[in-house]
Amino acid sequence: MFEYLQKKLDKALHIFKGNSRINEINIAETLKDIRKALIDADVNYKIAKIFVQKVKEKSIGKKVLSSLNPKQLIIKIIYDELVSLMGKKNIEINISNNPTIILICGLQGSGKTSFSSKLSFFLKKKKKEPLLVAADIHRPAAIDQLKIIAEKDNLPVFFLKKSKNIIEIFDKSLIYASEKKCNVIIIDTAGRLAIDKIMMDEIQKIYQYSKPDETLFVVDSMTGQDAINTVQSFSKFLNIDGIVMTKLDGDSRGGAAITMSSIIGKPIKFISNGEKIENLEIFYPERIANRILG
Ligand code: GDP
Repeated sequence: MFEYLQKKLDKALHIFKGNSRINEINIAETLKDIRKALIDADVNYKIAKIFVQKVKEKSIGKKVLSSLNPKQLIIKIIYDELVSLMGKKNIEINISNNPTIILICGLQGSGKTSFSSKLSFFLKKKKKEPLLVAADIHRPAAIDQLKIIAEKDNLPVFFLKKSKNIIEIFDKSLIYASEKKCNVIIIDTAGRLAIDKIMMDEIQKIYQYSKPDETLFVVDSMTGQDAINTVQSFSKFLNIDGIVMTKLDGDSRGGAAITMSSIIGKPIKFISNGEKIENLEIFYPERIANRILG
């Protein structure tokens, strides 16, 4: 994860040759390369420009502490800026209500169903009793898929194969949850290939009816800047509480993940980095910044 950006930044920092104070001249080329590294990693060019400007302002003329050399000082400044860009700290999901309702949405193929089961597994480890609800009324195969993934890991699933009514599925899942003493309901909604009216009407309907404690939007990080556009268009219709970025183990360049929260104003709550049930991490900006800086 984030190896692409890590390598590029490492190269940019490698060329820094200043050995006392940092000044306009000795940092110029490094800043240029940092900007290029960010843009290459899919960071929006305006954000990359502001980022570099801040690093410049904070580093030039700054007295280097005896414990740090100039290069370490720049790394520390970049680290602080990255953490701040990513929203500073993790915002936890709210699972205090009984039952807690979590609505999962996203485009088809983004990793919604995989994430729903990973979340269920994660919550079980936190001593919660989750219930996965297969609510894709358009693709029976999606229901089977959730069943297969969940049953493999012994995660309870609720589905009504013949129902085309998402409200009915939700209502009946609540009854089932109360019978089985489940206290977190994870609703895996239908995904579409693009954000369209039918998809939004359906999501709005279940959103308004179920009044979720958490609405999580799952997005594929491999789609780069498009990931940000997708979340932006979706959030015009629903109040998203958090973003889940998937497939960070692939060829994703990471730029969307590090800029998402500052562009959208919503936190990334989880990242997914593989196909296995345990490949889910809470999004901690400090940890990601540490990884990026090696
Ligand atoms: P959905 O249509 O949004 O429900 O997407 P799925 O959960 O079915 O995921 C689509 C494909 O992406 C599946 O083959 C998953 O195994 C895969 N996938 C999901 N999350 C990840 C991830 O974090 N890393 C990788 N490498 N593959 C993932």
